[in-house]
Amino acid sequence: MKTIIEPFRIKAVEPIKFTTRAERRLALDNAGNNVFRLRAEDVLIDLLTDSGTGAMSSDQWSALMRGDESYAGSRSFVRFHEVVTELTGFRHIIPTHQGRAAERILFHTILKPGQIVLNNTHFDTTRANIEVEDAEARDLVIAEGRIPSFIHPFKGNMDLDRLEHTLATDGDRIVLVMVTVTNNSGGGQPVSLENLRGVRALCTRFGKPFFLDACRFAENAWFIKQREPGQQDRTPREIAREMFSLADGCTMSAKKDGLANIGGFLAMNDDRWAEECRNLLILTEGFPTYGGMAGYDLEAVARGLEEVTEEAYLRYRIRSIEYLAERLTAGGVPIVQPPGGHAVYIDARAMLPTIPPLAYPGVALVNALYVDGGIRACEIGTVMFGLQPDGSEIPAAMDLVRLAIPRRLYTQSHIDYVAEAILEVAANKDALRGYRITSSAKRLRHFTAEFALLENVSTGQHAEASAFAG
Ligand SMILES: *Cc1c(COP(=O)(O)O)cnc(C)c1O
Repeated sequence: MKTIIEPFRIKAVEPIKFTTRAERRLALDNAGNNVFRLRAEDVLIDLLTDSGTGAMSSDQWSALMRGDESYAGSRSFVRFHEVVTELTGFRHIIPTHQGRAAERILFHTILKPGQIVLNNTHFDTTRANIEVEDAEARDLVIAEGRIPSFIHPFKGNMDLDRLEHTLATDGDRIVLVMVTVTNNSGGGQPVSLENLRGVRALCTRFGKPFFLDACRFAENAWFIKQREPGQQDRTPREIAREMFSLADGCTMSAKKDGLANIGGFLAMNDDRWAEECRNLLILTEGFPTYGGMAGYDLEAVARGLEEVTEEAYLRYRIRSIEYLAERLTAGGVPIVQPPGGHAVYIDARAMLPTIPPLAYPGVALVNALYVDGGIRACEIGTVMFGLQPDGSEIPAAMDLVRLAIPRRLYTQSHIDYVAEAILEVAANKDALRGYRITSSAKRLRHFTAEFALLENVSTGQHAEASAFAG
């Protein structure tokens, strides 16, 4: 059969609220034209993020009732520990409340000012947790991974020549080499097994530990099975285990491929680092057999880590994103190619060429999708990255709009609706106008900034000129 269907049936439903265009216009006005400030209730289809927003299975919900809330040595930790050990093979498993807690504990333990961590592309919390230690987060993704329209099967790969060169020249300052699978900040692009083996070989040669940022390890394993020569007959689980076996440790957000709403872990083989990390864990997260999680969370994550490598799930998961990408591409909407494992990224700058970057084409598109279709997407562009440390503003490298697909939450008809709404907005794109910021915070302004619609396009250009001057 060619049709790939959702590999589940639905046992509990949660109604979503339909609103009129006028109601959404009003809601967005009240939210200062920033979809982060909307009440989630007023959103019909929420594609803001795939983090912690997925649906749990009936097995996960029943596992919650088995949660053992004992402070120390809980049965749920034993179960969690067994599943993570079987999957990753790492000697030490340290539970945390989410991915960034694992990052903070790791980096605070191992980094000193002036040291360097290498990665294909650091995710923003990863980078922030390195920089807060006055250390440097350096990105070494392959050149193809930086070009949105370039089609390459493994756009998340590490540039092995630059890695070798960096290890040779800056070796004494480099504490850790990481690879993020899939490469979230690069559009959810996968990394090949061959590339991971190459990173392993260089880390062994230069005596550096190698960790995975494993948030989307299962989606990455599926891409390897589909795209890497010689991998077609292996199960995603076997591939995932080989990925982990090449590394010395990992950080993990269970809000992604843990198929849970909260949770994470830090895992590693090094006894000394693990002991120091556990000491910090006790200080800020909790006792080593629960970290930042309730016993029932440990159960939900353990079951989620089993379900996430099921072939039927991964086939449907990756196909649902590819399907949306195909519909948009066929309708002439420019997107980052090929689509990644968890999201479709629209190139808003290419789609809305009359709105200059400093009039925020990404926000114009995000807001139109909300008002026209009740869909919430996320600007990843000049609002998010354009503000400079000195308070000035420059266009970000790209103005993208991310449609992140929560796991197992929406059905194909929801995705069909999303595609239709986007094509409708695209058909009327000449009516869209840019925005200016009326109030914003000094850091992470995209979460709270308020915007006002510009009068017309030429005002947008004016805004650009004055922002440069200021
Ligand atoms: C989400 C994410 C993190 C951080 O995890 P949280 O659970 O959100 O704290 C780290 N790295 C990557 C690649 C992520 O996608």
